[in-house]
Amino acid sequence: MTDSSDIHICWTLDCEATQRAVADVDLGQRAVQGFVDTVTAAGMRVTLFVLPGDARAYPRLLRNLAGQGVEVGLHFHPQEEGHADYCGAYAADEQRQMYAAAIRQFADALGFQPRAFRTGSCSANDSTFPVTAALGFDSCSHSMPGRNMAGLRSSWTGAPACVHYAHAANRLLAGGLDLVEVPLTTDTDTMLWSGGHPQDLRVELFDAKQQRYLLDKVIGREKATAQPVKAIVALSHNTFAYDKRGDFRRQTLEQMLTDCTALADKHQVTLRPATIGDVAKAHRQAMPLGAGSKSPST
Ligand SMILES: [Zn+2]
Repeated sequence: MTDSSDIHICWTLDCEATQRAVADVDLGQRAVQGFVDTVTAAGMRVTLFVLPGDARAYPRLLRNLAGQGVEVGLHFHPQEEGHADYCGAYAADEQRQMYAAAIRQFADALGFQPRAFRTGSCSANDSTFPVTAALGFDSCSHSMPGRNMAGLRSSWTGAPACVHYAHAANRLLAGGLDLVEVPLTTDTDTMLWSGGHPQDLRVELFDAKQQRYLLDKVIGREKATAQPVKAIVALSHNTFAYDKRGDFRRQTLEQMLTDCTALADKHQVTLRPATIGDVAKAHRQAMPLGAGSKSPST
């Protein structure tokens, strides 16, 4: 049971070192191990969202990490699998076929089924959540509230910022589906990239000082919400040298982790280390599906 000053915090890493623009498996593996080591050394937990290609390229590392309590979920960029567009451009049947094939490839490589899913570029349409639910996922982190980038088929203006059951018919609504969406943490007061992208907690976006301002803001914001299960979700990609202590991104990550402790004290909250699956489980316990307790859509 959590109380109002409990906030889950998730450190997520999209694993896509095999995408053609990167094509550096060695860096990808080192980045994964370095990110996991750094986050777990701070007592926090990691969720990896992994392309089928990355699962095939370094299955032993991923299986070992899964055995150590790291959540290993699915990540999917259609363009890396021979399709032309982003996830949100495809009809339900097309998405179902693409994701089902990706699940098979993931499971063949790693020996287990993914339980959590994040689409590439947070690209989605109104079919994405019902398809994700139908394929058996427990949780997802598809949404980036406030993002408005139609070119990426990633339009989330007005999307709920809170943890919620997904909606069968509308990606911007909450409630109904047996699928818990754990949105990426964003600040829609600060829009970047010509107004299309809200500032988020991706490690590589800013230096640690700037990240601290947003951590401070979102911890205070989450504390003030009435949600039964609260979550802050940070992200990065396995395309940075997180294994190297002198690397700027590694140092930014370390400082963010350190700042979390100080800011939790400042706001008098408890930051609970969690995977995306942990958050979904807590949400299901706090607000059982079908108990007349739909998540409010902020
Ligand atoms: Zn990606």
